[in-house]
Amino acid sequence: MKRWTESVADEVTYDNLGSIAITKKGSGSGPKVMLAGHVDEIGFLVKSIDDNGFIRLHPIGGWWGHVLPSHPVTITTKKGDKLTGLIGSKAPHGMPADVRNKVMEIKDLFVDLGVRNKGEVELLGVSIGDMVTPKSDFMVLGNPNFLAAKAWDDRIGAIIATQVLLNLKDRQHEADVVAVGTVQEEVGLRGAKTAAYLVKPDVAVSLDVTIATDTPGDDNRIKMGFGVTMELADSSHLGHRGLLGHLEEMAKGLNLPVQFELLAAGGTDSGEIHKSFDGVIAVTCSIPSRYIHSHYALIHRKDVADTITLLTEFVASLNWDTVEKIRVFNR
Ligand SMILES: [Zn+2]
Repeated sequence: MKRWTESVADEVTYDNLGSIAITKKGSGSGPKVMLAGHVDEIGFLVKSIDDNGFIRLHPIGGWWGHVLPSHPVTITTKKGDKLTGLIGSKAPHGMPADVRNKVMEIKDLFVDLGVRNKGEVELLGVSIGDMVTPKSDFMVLGNPNFLAAKAWDDRIGAIIATQVLLNLKDRQHEADVVAVGTVQEEVGLRGAKTAAYLVKPDVAVSLDVTIATDTPGDDNRIKMGFGVTMELADSSHLGHRGLLGHLEEMAKGLNLPVQFELLAAGGTDSGEIHKSFDGVIAVTCSIPSRYIHSHYALIHRKDVADTITLLTEFVASLNWDTVEKIRVFNR
């Protein structure tokens, strides 16, 4: 994010957890708007190494064991070496039904580095607490609008925030715009809280993926490739009605279709941002994604492009009059 925004950034700061805040200043004494995407991803820590050199995992963030067997991971050592390991799986041949029908639990999984014993693991520099992350490559699907990668949750949010900042390059705007890459979202929206106190925003838009429900057996409520998705509610936050209304109206004016999301489980950075200070006007814009929290999630180019268009126009036109209108709407 820092490298990408070099040509537009007026100021780059960090909170003490590691979140980055990149500011592009407005023309004067306008409001401050925070665009937040979380840059962490789900993964593991090395929990233990057994005598035969197999590694057990401590999960960081929400995993379902079912998506892991036979998938590669990267272990990052203290020295910074990156080692490839494979999560072990069993062949189905002759497997008893009770084993075959059971979803694998994380505690039963292990990483195979192809070594003979614990000593060889230690020689490679691996120690307890080392970071373990999914290993997978970016792919473009048959329909090239569909992009597969790990950790779209939520690097795509950080990408959108950054791109909006870049889009303001040759434009007049009153608001100070701050693109923020928050950390530790997956373990409880922690970086969003400290970053909000760092930035002190008047208005905030969090960007995160949401669960697309347009696959077989699901309810087809939230579709990929639809356009803009705004979140009315999740388990951490109720979208600010004034700001939702304002963004919906702007989207209409820009001919961008909008769908509304209600997320029963799971929070977003807005959950902490809106509770900072005496309350921050905040909403979450979502990118519908299939297969999140696995080695390959999907996003759709149109959803990303439309969201960038809407937020660019929103921050470019934001001034204190708009903020006051939005705030009063909520009373
Ligand atoms: Zn997530």
